[in-house]
Amino acid sequence: MMKDAKLHKKNKKSDEKNMPYIFDAYKVAIVYAIFGGLWILLSDKILGFIFPDLKTYKSIQTYKGVLYVLITTLLVYELLRRRLKLWHIEYKKREEAFQELKLINEELVKLDAELTYQKKLNENIIMEAPSIIITWDDTGRILSINPFGEKLTGYTEEELINGPGWKLLVPEERFYMAIDTYFEIKDMDEALIYDGAVITKDGRRVDILWSSKTLFQQSDEGGKKYVSIGTDLEERKRYEEKIKHMAYYDTLTNLPNRLMFEQMVSKHIRDKDSSFAIAYMDIDNFKNINDSIGHKAGDVFLKYFANTILENVEESAFVARLGGDEFAILYKYDSKEGILEKVESLLKQTNRIWSHDNRLFYISTSVGIVLYPENGDNTSELLMNADIAMYASKREGRNRILFYKSDLMEENSRYGDMANNLQEGMDQQQFYLVYQPQYNLYSKELIGMEALLRWEHPSEGFISPGDFIPIAERTGQIYRLERWVIRKALEQRSIWEQQGYGYIQTSINLSTKTLTSAINFAEWEQILSEYDVDYSKIIIEITETADILDVENVIGRLNILKKRGIRIALDDFGTGYSSLNYLKKFPIDIIKLDRSFINAITEEGVDTLLIKNILKLANDLKFEVIAEGIETYEQMQLLVDYNCESGQGFLLSKPLTVENIFNLLNNYNK
Ligand code: C2E
Ligand code: CA
Ligand code: CA
Repeated sequence: MMKDAKLHKKNKKSDEKNMPYIFDAYKVAIVYAIFGGLWILLSDKILGFIFPDLKTYKSIQTYKGVLYVLITTLLVYELLRRRLKLWHIEYKKREEAFQELKLINEELVKLDAELTYQKKLNENIIMEAPSIIITWDDTGRILSINPFGEKLTGYTEEELINGPGWKLLVPEERFYMAIDTYFEIKDMDEALIYDGAVITKDGRRVDILWSSKTLFQQSDEGGKKYVSIGTDLEERKRYEEKIKHMAYYDTLTNLPNRLMFEQMVSKHIRDKDSSFAIAYMDIDNFKNINDSIGHKAGDVFLKYFANTILENVEESAFVARLGGDEFAILYKYDSKEGILEKVESLLKQTNRIWSHDNRLFYISTSVGIVLYPENGDNTSELLMNADIAMYASKREGRNRILFYKSDLMEENSRYGDMANNLQEGMDQQQFYLVYQPQYNLYSKELIGMEALLRWEHPSEGFISPGDFIPIAERTGQIYRLERWVIRKALEQRSIWEQQGYGYIQTSINLSTKTLTSAINFAEWEQILSEYDVDYSKIIIEITETADILDVENVIGRLNILKKRGIRIALDDFGTGYSSLNYLKKFPIDIIKLDRSFINAITEEGVDTLLIKNILKLANDLKFEVIAEGIETYEQMQLLVDYNCESGQGFLLSKPLTVENIFNLLNNYNK
C-alpha cells in the first residue's frame, strides 16, 4: 500500500514536469529575466555614454524607469496574450468534449436503469412463470432452467447443465425427432411451436407444448442462444377443470348443483328424445339436526345423505343438491308406477335412523314428482311444480311421495295463503329494510351496507325472505315489492348522504324476475332515476339462474344502470347459481363469494388452493370481491391471507335496523 502511494506521488511530480504550461511559465520567466538582466547591466552604461552631464542624466533616469515599465508591460501582455489564446482554444475544446461526455454518461445511466429493470422483469418472469423455461446454446447444451421447470422435471439446474442435458428430458423414441426440431429452430426467425414430452426424474411422462426461439443472435461467448418455453398441458387442463367443477358442483357433497341440474333438465327438453321425471326431495327434520347438534354435524349428515342417494339410484339417474336440504333426481321415464317404485325403494334407504354423537335422529323425506312433458314445458315451470308437489306432501303430514296435479297449485295453502298475506303485508306496511354492514377486511373500515328485506307478520311473526321471496317471484308480487325496496333504499341513502355518510356504498338485491321483465324493469329503473343520489356508490346485486334466456336484453338493462355509474355485483358466487361463464357474459364488477363457499374454507379436506385460485383469478380479472357470511375469525384471517379485500357476516355485524345503523355511524365517527 505504502509503496503504491509513493509511486503515485512520484508519478504526479513527473507528470507535472511534462505539463506544457510549466514549460510556458519557464519560458516567460526566462525571457523576462534576460530582458531585465540586460536592462540593468546595459541601460545605465548606455545612458551615461549618451548623457555625460549628471543633471540631464538624472532627469533622463526617470524616463528610463517609465520606459522600462512600458516595455516590460508590452512584453508581458504579448506573452500572456499568446499563451491565453492557446489556452482558451484548448479550454473550449475541452469544454465541448466534457459536455459530450456528460450527455453520453446521462444516456448510459438511463440505459443502465432500463437494463436493470428489464433484467429484473425477465428474472421475475422466469422465476415465477408456471411454465418450464430452458435456455440452451448452439451445441444443444442446456444453460439454465427456471424453478418451475426444476420442480416439474425433478432435476436441479446443476444436474441438467452438467449432465447429459436434453437427453435426460426427451423421451428416447423422440430423440431423433428432437434433433430435427433443433435444426428447424436454428433456421427460423420466429418461434417454433410443437408438441413434445419430458420424462421426469422419477420416470413419469408429461406432455408439453413447446415454444422455442433464438434468444440472442450472438452471445458474449460467440455462439447463438435459444430459449424453449413449455406448458404442462395436463396441469392446465386440471386447473380449468377444477374451476369448472366449482361452478357446477356443490362443494359440500360434491354432487352437481342447481345450475348443473337446471342445465341438464334444459338439455333433456332440447334433445326431445325422451320423456323424464324429476323427484324433488326435502328432508323433513334437517332443521332439527342443525339446531340440536350444530352446523358441522348438519354438514356431516348432508354428506351421508347424498351418498345414500347415490348408492341407491340406478346409474342413469342424475342426482343433484339444489341447496340446503333439498335434493333432486332426474329419472328416465318409463311409467308412473315405475318411477313411484324407484323412489319408494330409495326412501327405504334414506328414511332410517341416523346416529351422531350418541344421539339418534329419525330421518324422513318429503318428495314431489313431476313428469315431462305432462307437468310443464320448460325447466323453471317443471322445478316450480315439483316444489309445489313436494310442499303438498309435507302438508299432508310429511314423509310421503306426491305426484304433481294442476289443482295442487290452488290447494296449496302455502302458496295461496302466503300470496294473499304478501298482498296484505304490502298494503299494511308490514315490510321494512335492514342493512348489513360491509367492511374492508384489512383496515376494518365500514365501506358499505346491503339492504335486506324484512317481513313482520302481525300473527305469523317474522317471515324469512328465503321463504317469501320465492313465492313473491312466482306470483309476480316481487315486482311491487322491489319497487318498494328501491324507493325505500334510495330515500334512506339520500338521508345518509345529507348526514355526510355518502361515501358508504349501498347494495340492493334485484331478482332475475324483474331483470328479465321488460316492463317491470323499466318501472323499477324509472323509480331509481328519480333520486338525486351518488349512483357511483350504488351496487345492484343479481344472481344467476338458468332462466335468463334473453341474454342480450339483460346485458342492455345492466348497461343502462352502468351508464349511471351503478356497479353490478354477482351474488351467491360459488353456489353454482353463479358461475364463471356468467362473469364473461354479463358486465359484472363485483363478485360476492357465497356463504357456503366461505364455510368450506375451514372445512377439513376442502381444497384451500382452489379458493385461493378463485380469489387470484378474481383479482387478475380485476373483479372486486366481497365475501359473504363470515362467521369466524379463522375464516376472516384466511380471506385476508388470500387477498380478499372486503366482506360481511355475523362475525362483523348482523343486519341492523335503520336506528341501529344510526348508532353505528355515530359511534364510528367519534
Ligand atoms: P343474500 O342476498 O345472499 O343475503 C345474504 C343473506 O345471508 C341474508 O339473509 C343475511 O342475513 C344472511 N347472512 C349474512 N351474514 C351471515 C352470516 O354470517 N351467517 C349466516 N348464516 N347468514 C348470514 P336474509 O336477509 O335472510 O336474505 C336471504 C335472501 O333473500 C338474500 O340472500 C336475498 O337473496 C333475498 N333477499 C333479501 N332481501 C331482498 C330484496 O330486497 N330483494 C330481493 N330480490 N331479494 C332479497
Ligand atoms: Ca345479496
Ligand atoms: Ca348472497
